[in-house]
Amino acid sequence: MTFEYDDQNIFAKILRGEIPNQTIYENDHALAFNDINPQAPVHVLVIPKGAYVSLDHFARDASPAEQVGFMQAVAEVCRLTDVDQGFRAIANARSHGVQDVPHYHLHIIGGRQLGRMLQG
Ligand code: AMP
Repeated sequence: MTFEYDDQNIFAKILRGEIPNQTIYENDHALAFNDINPQAPVHVLVIPKGAYVSLDHFARDASPAEQVGFMQAVAEVCRLTDVDQGFRAIANARSHGVQDVPHYHLHIIGGRQLGRMLQG
């Protein structure tokens, strides 16, 4: 599998500061911000700062420090958004996964009772 990163994607522009975002948490390797079209009271996107297209790209090629930094950001988002009653983490990838933005992102969705997976 070859991963080709398009640096004009909207999350690349957010990382470069060209588009504003509602930041929840940031560290050296990851940024977490509110989804612009929230599906639940909590809907945060966690993205790596590196140029990775999808979860499988990130899992294969990101350094240990990047992977640890990313998961630390996930932990902080869960703590800061107070999803003690639970949440769902979703990583859509490519066409079958209906991924719209080609920069790896993990959706953290919660704050209400969710329906069962999967609808489609
Ligand atoms: P996906 O289908 O997994 O690629 O999801 C992309 C997500 O990015 C969607 O939930 C969008 O609402 C969200 N999104 C798109 N543009 C922005 C933006 N400028 N700021 C925050 N979230 C965005």
